[in-house]
Amino acid sequence: MIKSKLPHVSTTIFSVMSQLAQKNNAINLAQGFPDFNTDSELINRLNYYSTQNYNQYAPMFGVEKLRILLSEKYSKLYDSDYDFQNEINITSGASQAIFNVISTLVYPNDEVIIFEPAYDLYQPTVELFGGKVIPIQLKYPEYSIDFEELKQKITDKTKLIIINNPNNPSGRILSEEDLKQFEKIISETNAYILADEVYEHITFDGKQHQSFAKLKTLKDRVFIVGSFGKLFHITGWKIGYILAEKELMKEFRKCHQFNTFSTHTPSQYAIADYMENPDHYLYLNDFFQEKRNLFIDGLASTYFDILPCEGTYFMSANYSKISNLSDDEFAKELTIKHKVATIPFSAFYQDKTDHKVIRFCFAKKDETLEQALEKLTKL
Ligand code: PMP
Ligand code: GLN
Repeated sequence: MIKSKLPHVSTTIFSVMSQLAQKNNAINLAQGFPDFNTDSELINRLNYYSTQNYNQYAPMFGVEKLRILLSEKYSKLYDSDYDFQNEINITSGASQAIFNVISTLVYPNDEVIIFEPAYDLYQPTVELFGGKVIPIQLKYPEYSIDFEELKQKITDKTKLIIINNPNNPSGRILSEEDLKQFEKIISETNAYILADEVYEHITFDGKQHQSFAKLKTLKDRVFIVGSFGKLFHITGWKIGYILAEKELMKEFRKCHQFNTFSTHTPSQYAIADYMENPDHYLYLNDFFQEKRNLFIDGLASTYFDILPCEGTYFMSANYSKISNLSDDEFAKELTIKHKVATIPFSAFYQDKTDHKVIRFCFAKKDETLEQALEKLTKL
């Protein structure tokens, strides 16, 4: 028997709910992935590069053109200065970048602050490297940050603070004022920041994404992570990236080279070509805002209490007027009996906090959303 390094961890909720949806022939609004295809222009570029013999190892740092385009994008959008040679790396999804940052930084007994509800990858990864997770709960139902609590929880042992903005699963985004608060508090500590910004181009109602890339004073302590999966509707390609100041990147690359070495080659070339046109990612806000509105409007006549959704392609709702079941049981019942799969929020809390809230993914064809709404309005 192997002595488990993660004795309390079971299969991720995303696989559990996707499998349950499949088994019960339910509409899958659980795991976050689009059910529509990506642009054929991007597929054609991938086809081109794989038929033109771009099938061997990519450079360890990632394809140069892609890194240059990322450097330009960050400079244009956030007035930041990341050198494509020494400060940008392509990764095998944002997941690998996050895992690698944690492996680069965390020693046994280091403390890592996370905000809950939190994406489920953070905690087990910190624990794999002997770190201790210090959770801070976002204040329900606004999911706002208690900066006083953050100040109190930062100690001499705090190695890393992980901030996911726009936030999965709550759909909340940081304001300019929040970013300033972070800057002020963190500048008085020695902590590093892992800014998981995979939904950076999905913010609504004209609100701007507040990237940690804007904070020049903290540049030597910040790792910024992104994902092309979210940007171009290609979650299955698993291509992400990381930006970090060059001394940080030097250490990141020491781990990265032995973790995976490099990332799928033809996809990187295809994405680079496609990224030359910024409309391909700058239109995302409007595209998803329409889907969000369609779904929220449809839910308005139900007994669900809809919680605010400022960004990401997830929205959440409280179901306590419909059922007394725990969120886990409710999500299962909804899948099995009513044929709509969602994610229970308790999966994003270490102590399984249950406010009777479930998460819906609205990155789906309008017809899928309409079919789901038809079922949900019967509840
Ligand atoms: N961070 C967050 C907040 C996510 O929702 C996801 C899931 N897509 C990831 C990281 C991982 O992204 P990728 O699929 O590129 O590994
Ligand atoms: N990020 C996706 C979500 O939140 C899931 C990714 C995964 O299944 N690992 O649903």
